[in-house]
Amino acid sequence: MKVPFLDLSLQHRALREPALAALTATYDATRFCLGKDVEEFEANFAKTLGYPRVLAMNSGTSPLHVACMIAGFGPGDEVITAPFTFISSAWGINYVGATPVFADIEPGTYNLDPEKVEAAITPRTKGIIVVHLFGQPARMDELIAIARKHGLYVIEDCAQAIGASYKGKPVGLMGDVGTFSFYPTKNLGGCGEGGAFVAKDEGVHIKARHIRVHGSDRRYYHDIVGGNFRMDGFQGALLNVKLPYLAGWTARRQAIAARYLAGITLAEVQLPEQPAYGRSVFHQFTIRHPRRDMLREHLTRAEVGTDLIYPVPLHLQKCYAGLGYGIGSFPVSELTANTCVSLPIFPELTDGQVDHVIAAVNSF
Ligand SMILES: *Cc1c(COP(=O)(O)O)cnc(C)c1O
Repeated sequence: MKVPFLDLSLQHRALREPALAALTATYDATRFCLGKDVEEFEANFAKTLGYPRVLAMNSGTSPLHVACMIAGFGPGDEVITAPFTFISSAWGINYVGATPVFADIEPGTYNLDPEKVEAAITPRTKGIIVVHLFGQPARMDELIAIARKHGLYVIEDCAQAIGASYKGKPVGLMGDVGTFSFYPTKNLGGCGEGGAFVAKDEGVHIKARHIRVHGSDRRYYHDIVGGNFRMDGFQGALLNVKLPYLAGWTARRQAIAARYLAGITLAEVQLPEQPAYGRSVFHQFTIRHPRRDMLREHLTRAEVGTDLIYPVPLHLQKCYAGLGYGIGSFPVSELTANTCVSLPIFPELTDGQVDHVIAAVNSF
């Protein structure tokens, strides 16, 4: 039995007719940038997922960039984030001229360790970018308490955590700003690039809306420095078709995860921790094993697709060589990068395929 790591064609084949009808309507109406489809998607997203207001943007990196602009981070400022994440979590800090500072993660949830965050704070620290990695919410109460104590701006990178909750609250509403991605491989994927910006505060929302369209409210009048962060009409149209399915897809991911958690019994495997405070949406199901590379080869021979997410922590990436970190700076992130392997988890997997993965892991 073959189990691919991810197969986007199944979902898109099933939705082909409504998707192409929606895209065709957008094409015929030439609603190419923002417009009705995007506005409807914003309203549906806010209502379905429990946000007061939402701005659709042109990638998941864009809302992080916009959030860093609004936070007022700049040269000389330090912003703390996790070293074990996708690089984009940190890019916004660089785009506004501030300096990324890393704090190590917890071994169980792969998310920021609040104690390490507190230890990384200096008089120059201005904010924290919290990542809810693999769909698992981070320890927000502790992180928000630290932020309040030190007057820090909090951005939640929810790119992998759409639909996840912390103590019953949707992720992205505990900090100042929450950001999302609709890159095709995400839990809610577009037919191209997309993202969203969620702010608790209406003033922040209005400012971000202006920044999204070249810093303007009125065409050709530019009150603040902005950029082009607009979502295109096709993404709004397709995401509107897909959004009603998200809750079912998420439930299926959680059911697959439950099957993995109950079924994987291989000695020395570390399964992802599920703290009682939150509900993960399992963007990834990532395990650790001391002989990870051999386990991965074993799974390949059993026709189970896997991926290494992520093989190199941010502080060891070449682009951040100038920050002064090295091997040993963040032992938990490094151990995780060296021992993690992600198993297939997407809604269209059958129970038979999931059981095949479990059997393949357990037979290592
Ligand atoms: C996908 C992702 C982003 C945003 O990426 P885009 O490719 O710009 O949509 C940001 N942070 C994390 C953790 C991600 O996984």
